[in-house]
Amino acid sequence: MSNTPTSTVDTARLPVLLSQLRLPTVALLWPALTETADRESWPAAKTLAALMEHEVAERARRRTARHLLEARLPAGKTLDLFDFAAVSSISKARITALAEGDSWLDQGTNILLFGPPGVGKSHLAAALGHAMVAARYRVLFTRTTDLVQQLQAARQELKLATAIEKLDKYHLLVLDDLSYVRKSQAETSVIFELISARYERRSLLITANQPFGAWDSIFPDPAMTVAAIDRLVHHSIILEMNAESYRRKSAEIKLRRKLTGSAVKATLAETSPTAEVS
Ligand code: ADP
Ligand code: MG
Repeated sequence: MSNTPTSTVDTARLPVLLSQLRLPTVALLWPALTETADRESWPAAKTLAALMEHEVAERARRRTARHLLEARLPAGKTLDLFDFAAVSSISKARITALAEGDSWLDQGTNILLFGPPGVGKSHLAAALGHAMVAARYRVLFTRTTDLVQQLQAARQELKLATAIEKLDKYHLLVLDDLSYVRKSQAETSVIFELISARYERRSLLITANQPFGAWDSIFPDPAMTVAAIDRLVHHSIILEMNAESYRRKSAEIKLRRKLTGSAVKATLAETSPTAEVS
């Protein structure tokens, strides 16, 4: 450590020094904070600690914001907005435990969400993704067909291994709608390569309309289907969402409201021809 004589310390150089050290939050806060410290006679160590705490907290906030952006989670699909009463087969306590605990992620456990269209699989998957980003993990939410296309392109350029390795930085990879992948899409074995590469190390959250029975249409041959399922389920949490389509139900409610609304309008118009009905 160099011996800078205290007499040569020049506070006017602080902005430059802080910029060199990449401490933007300290750079922003030090004038006001040191003023408070002087006024209230804080010990120097307290002032230093306070500035550092601010820098670290701001870094964490920026990191989470960056991770949220890269996760490409559908907006507004959080756990608070999920109506558990609509899906009796799913326990709120269980999902909350998954959202609040991260041991499943640390162990590379997979989550498989099965259920017919519209029951909230994508919503729940996104909500768990949001929770994991908040818990400082890195997440990527993608439609499985999109990812398959990307991986196929990588394979054509002989870069499949690198592409799969790059996905390793995501502690959680959400593959939405696996059952929309069809082996006619050519080389769906890339998805098998991905499953194998992440096995016992990194978690996958897969949503699918069809449970395993129908997965033969996804992979090139039955042996690969069995091998893929085997790896997926070895450490996994399987959640079956058997409910009426929330999408259809809410569309029906809207329609009913609209119909009731127009019935009211019609009645109003009948009883009072001058009534303003908007
Ligand atoms: P799936 O992926 O199973 O086809 P989605 O998650 O896309 O279904 O749900 C369809 C729509 O209904 C979305 O807008 C979603 O936010 C909403 N939705 C589904 N289930 C619920 C629920 N239990 N509570 C609140 N919104 C829900
Ligand atoms: Mg969906």
